[in-house]
Amino acid sequence: VVQVRGARKSFGHHEVLHGVDLDVERGTVTVVLGPSGSGKSTLLRAINHLEKLDAGYVGVDGELVGVRVAHGRLHELSERAILRQRARIGFVFQGFNLFPHLTVLENVVEAPVAALRRDRGEVRAEALALLDRVGLADKADAYPRQLSGGQQQRVAIARALALRPQLILFDEPTSALDPELVGEVLAVIKDLAAAGTTMIIVTHEIGFAREVADTVVFLDGGRVVEQGPPDEVLTRPRHARTAAFLSRVR
Ligand code: ATP
Ligand code: MG
Repeated sequence: VVQVRGARKSFGHHEVLHGVDLDVERGTVTVVLGPSGSGKSTLLRAINHLEKLDAGYVGVDGELVGVRVAHGRLHELSERAILRQRARIGFVFQGFNLFPHLTVLENVVEAPVAALRRDRGEVRAEALALLDRVGLADKADAYPRQLSGGQQQRVAIARALALRPQLILFDEPTSALDPELVGEVLAVIKDLAAAGTTMIIVTHEIGFAREVADTVVFLDGGRVVEQGPPDEVLTRPRHARTAAFLSRVR
């Protein structure tokens, strides 16, 4: 579903992505690990058009994402095409970013109606089913402030699913949560993995990565240092930098 080729991105003189290649197959889970500042969030943001690359390209479902520099020429998507593509990629952040003035149900219903112009009644029925799926059917009429962090994050996941995305990106979905709330969010993500949802997940939860990932990618200093199945990368890393990182986060 996703092809990243030679992705480069600088902020000022600081090159954050130094030519990243990444392939994600449909129905698979890719976990991205790496130290703080290694470019993990920038990579996810580039896949979702929130960050423009300086060179290289990202393709989602064979469609170009963002800017492509080829043969010295810029190829750029129209704003409308970007919005259309972004609507097909779910993004779940560390902070839950729910609309505080909307109920849980309204939070889930809003995007499909606004971005995809779908019928509100139909979306509502689907949203209730999604809330049930993340274990929050009884919270549909609550407001975000009335929920725990773990519950809010599960609403954010339901909201991402409501767009029927072809791909969901998670950027440290549990790192803002109290430890006792981490498990309930990881359980929802595990269910999605079992259902064949295509996901790219940035996380420091190594045990979770081992259980859920088809591929683990270790990013350091804006480069993919190592990638492969979890029992290779996590158990027998081939690079000293991967081993050093793993010994620090475990
Ligand atoms: P963390 O684990 O702390 O979330 P990360 O791997 O997600 O780190 P990024 O957020 O991708 O790292 O940032 C990579 C580098 O790019 C960092 O040095 C950061 O300071 C820098 N950076 C990110 N966004 C910007 C920006 N908008 N302007 C300037 N520098 C930025
Ligand atoms: Mg980050």
